[in-house]
Amino acid sequence: MKKKERSQGPKTKERKIIRKRDCKFCIDKVMEIDYKDIRLISRFVSERGKIKPRRTNGNCAKHQRQMTIAIKRARYLALLPYINEVYR
Ligand SMILES: [Zn+2]
Repeated sequence: MKKKERSQGPKTKERKIIRKRDCKFCIDKVMEIDYKDIRLISRFVSERGKIKPRRTNGNCAKHQRQMTIAIKRARYLALLPYINEVYR
């Protein structure tokens, strides 16, 4: 058997380079994220109840930090779940 020449196709690492610096809070000039605003906060939480990483929700470092604090506060007050069970 001859070795078939494997076509070394271009390994296209499709890294989605979404480098939009569109932190919503920076645009709106939000200084503090309200932990009572569940509708806002829940957007930054996955369906499992995890806090989404910054690269997915597009926050800047400063606001992401505030967001995590806000989410944790909201969890403590039982506004958000710690774990959201997803039934399979
Ligand atoms: Zn920001």
